[in-house]
Amino acid sequence: MNPNSIKTTCPYCGVGCGIEATVLDAGQHIVSIKGDDQHPANFGKLCSKGATLGDTVSLENRLLYPEINGQRSDWDSALTLVAQRFNRIIAEHGPDAVAFYVSGQLLTEDYYVANKLMKGFIGSANIDTNSRLCMSSAVTGYKRAFGADMVPCSYEDLEQAKLIVLVGSNAAWCHPIAFQRIRRAKEQNPALKVVVIDPRMTSSCDIADLHLAIKPGMDGLLFNGLLAYLAETDTLDQDFINTHCVGFAESLAAAQASAGDFAQLAANCGLATHDLAQLFAWFASTSKVVTVYSQGINQSSSGSDKCNAIINCHLASGKIGKPGSGPFSFTGQPNAMGGREVGGLANTLAAHMDLENPLHVDRVGRFWGSDRVANQQGLKAVDLFDAIAAGSIKAVWIIATNPVASMPDADKVKRALQQCEFVVVSDCIANTDTIALAQVKLPASGWGEKDGTVTNLERRISRQRPIFNPYGEARPDWWIISQVASRMGFAGFAYQTSADIFREHAALSGFENNSEYGKRGFDISAFADIEQDQYDALPPIQWPVTKTSSAGSVRLFGDGQFYTDTGKARFMAIVPRGPVNQPDIDYPFILNTGRLRDQWHTMTRTALAAKLNSHRPEPLVEIHPDDATRLGLKHLGLAQIKSHWGEMLARVDITLSQQPGSLFVPMHWTAQLSSLGRVNALVNPVVDPLSGQPESKQTPVSIEVW
Ligand code: SF4
Repeated sequence: MNPNSIKTTCPYCGVGCGIEATVLDAGQHIVSIKGDDQHPANFGKLCSKGATLGDTVSLENRLLYPEINGQRSDWDSALTLVAQRFNRIIAEHGPDAVAFYVSGQLLTEDYYVANKLMKGFIGSANIDTNSRLCMSSAVTGYKRAFGADMVPCSYEDLEQAKLIVLVGSNAAWCHPIAFQRIRRAKEQNPALKVVVIDPRMTSSCDIADLHLAIKPGMDGLLFNGLLAYLAETDTLDQDFINTHCVGFAESLAAAQASAGDFAQLAANCGLATHDLAQLFAWFASTSKVVTVYSQGINQSSSGSDKCNAIINCHLASGKIGKPGSGPFSFTGQPNAMGGREVGGLANTLAAHMDLENPLHVDRVGRFWGSDRVANQQGLKAVDLFDAIAAGSIKAVWIIATNPVASMPDADKVKRALQQCEFVVVSDCIANTDTIALAQVKLPASGWGEKDGTVTNLERRISRQRPIFNPYGEARPDWWIISQVASRMGFAGFAYQTSADIFREHAALSGFENNSEYGKRGFDISAFADIEQDQYDALPPIQWPVTKTSSAGSVRLFGDGQFYTDTGKARFMAIVPRGPVNQPDIDYPFILNTGRLRDQWHTMTRTALAAKLNSHRPEPLVEIHPDDATRLGLKHLGLAQIKSHWGEMLARVDITLSQQPGSLFVPMHWTAQLSSLGRVNALVNPVVDPLSGQPESKQTPVSIEVW
């Protein structure tokens, strides 16, 4: 390693790759980037986005100073105004009249302080996160099955597996370095089989032995069919089921009832019987299977059930807690997992505790020294913005995210913020669709300036370290939130460094976390006394990290012990449901949204790298040739797409990768980049009733030549 280099972590996807950054000109923020050879997530590799981070740290489009009503202000005035207005609204209307909407981009320390302020001291759980759009169904699935939100697997399981099933995941584009590990594993072990289950033929199919172009929305049915098949072919792990699980009989009965006979099942899934039979036979006969699932499963009105249908199959075959086996959800964001640790979702409490468990509320209250800890769930993202639109939430603080571009029914979100009494936005970016609507703008530190930790999708905590001084008057998010908390009159926010917060977070994870008080899965209490220099040098490590497992934990549930009341995993009886909104005569196509290889979220950073923009420079819509011919759409011509909720224009991309009747549009473009290219203005705001995750993969739309 170059002695002048600084080790940090990529701020894009949940793979969490390690980076070595070498500053060439600190004043101009010129930095050379390479992969960190020692980081266990990537061993020196970077994808196109990570490799071009150096092109995205310029002064361009940075928010440099606090602003009030469009005028430059100073920190003291802006922070005091935010504290006063929030206090006034809380005094007049109660704590549930205010809300925070935060982000999987935040560092764990930022996230922790935001949650502590809202849930611990304001006394409302109206804090939700854009991770709601990404993985909240996976959280529900894990909690229902395991009693705790715990990802059982690690990347090394991908290398040890003999069968990898990618379902609803285009990992080649969305988690490129994890996908490269699968590709390399397959090159080294040609016997490793890869199956992709996805309505689209994506780049992930390049290494697939089998691609199942499933009918959109039928994944839950498929995995119910697999469970029924395992029983029928006597390939269950009956010992594991009997010793370590409950609820199998009900789950199997529901699976058998929905699956019907095999030919029916294949037809309902839109698949050839021999393809489906091949997948089932491989799953049943292979000892080591990892099922990777992502947004194609989670972003559904039945996303939680789909997650549990997958987990059911792993429990039923005992393919969990062993090397090369397990249900492995891939989170989208760099710190979605860190947000889960601190209770970043409106339905969770800090350190994986529950808002509706009085013992947990009492425990967190005693730890924080507060008697006003929220004891019921807050509003999840879609409901939260609906409440703003309805006027019951009168003040919102949006931190490090751009909901006017990224939420479903995005125009409604825009209108809600336009009429909201008080909107505060903290961001490092000066111009976004959302910050344009803020009365108070607070400049936050960006990547390369921030100092803290993130947790990747295999539970690995890594440091993000500062490379430069912040531009202008930008400050860390945890500092901004703590300053407002103190000005609101709350004690307990006098943090001097991010290490102070990490220590407190670690101590809470271990607080009364033992058999006497009930054991919780998330535990990093080994860091409760971490010194500043140890924090500065913290190597990447997978939680749990306790005094007795100080090297971290590669894999969970190897002892067959789960975190439910009985210590046994729970099968769930799944009755598959299709998408809520189905195509009809006015809107005959199914719109699916997702990521491109070279862009990240609403492109505030990646659009600054010329190399990344060349991949797909404009909003586009992928359509099957038969549909394009029938509608007179020309390749690279313009099309207008409409739904019940909104409309957009996109460049036509005619491709066989799409099924007839389906369209794919990337989610990245905003009004700042292309005024008519915001796909989320079209996306239906239907959510999963358990997880609150929107059904972003299925909106009925029409398309015509523009
Ligand atoms: Fe960054 Fe994800 Fe690419 Fe790794 S795979 S370099 S974390 S965007």
